[in-house]
Amino acid sequence: TTPGPWKVIDRRKLYMADVESAVLYTLRREATRYDFLEKEQLSAMKQYVAVLVKYFPGRLPIMNYLRNLDFWLRPKTNVSKSEWEEALRNKNELPNAWLPENPTWVACQGSKRGFPCGLWTLFHLLTVQEALLSPQPHTPPEVLPTMRGYVHYFFGCRQCADHFEAMAAESMNKVRNKDGSILWLWSRHNRVNARLAGTASEDPKFPKIQWPPKDLCWSCQITINGRLMWDERAILRFFKSHFSRGNIYLDFLK
Ligand code: FAD
Repeated sequence: TTPGPWKVIDRRKLYMADVESAVLYTLRREATRYDFLEKEQLSAMKQYVAVLVKYFPGRLPIMNYLRNLDFWLRPKTNVSKSEWEEALRNKNELPNAWLPENPTWVACQGSKRGFPCGLWTLFHLLTVQEALLSPQPHTPPEVLPTMRGYVHYFFGCRQCADHFEAMAAESMNKVRNKDGSILWLWSRHNRVNARLAGTASEDPKFPKIQWPPKDLCWSCQITINGRLMWDERAILRFFKSHFSRGNIYLDFLK
């Protein structure tokens, strides 16, 4: 898609356009990677769509669309690329159900950004929504394993998927609850940021920093004996507010 004029954004806000665009990109562009969806790929896609239905805080027509798709997908044992494309087209049939054709990147605008930025944002949002909507400690976290499956089978950047899988294999099974999921994803994203800082994948307008910076959350970083540390309780408080429904703005949506 041709980039439009530069959008003036507010870094404190979350833009629905970015996370909605990530959703449509996964379904329209990435899920069509295979000629057939079956076995593990199909169950990874089913799990992903089911998690979106449960936790994506989307606009009503988008949620109706996702519910239709989930209902259609659940009983399937294999799905050809043309069936999938046909399903994506005809899930618009129910009243007040649709998914935009093309992405609109807002906070994720810029060179080398767009979808990967949108995907991180979407997954942070889902881990937080899961913690807010289903905080019970005895139910195991669903979003992280779903994200792991999605990235493994569908994320187009294969090198990214391999790196991510290595981090997941090392420690994801130690995550015990929903707050743990939020913190795991936050710290692994920062690890990726540290690895990529100053490399060719950095957009100079958006340097890879350890996030959140002080101007977004002054209490998240504390200095102990001259060393900068993170306060995880403050991080959780900040995430649960930054990635809350109340902080999602509809600007720039068509
Ligand atoms: P992104 O890193 O995409 O972040 C998007 C936005 O999230 C930022 O603008 C910021 O607002 C916020 N943010 C930043 N850090 C955090 C954090 N710790 N917690 C919560 N929010 C945060 N590229 C490679 O070259 N090699 C890789 O191995 C690689 N692995 C990847 C693995 C995954 C799962 C994903 C989704 C992407 C990966 N990428 C990799 C792409 C890379 O991480 C960036 O997404 C891409 O370079 C675009 O960067 P960006 O500036 O938009 O910021």
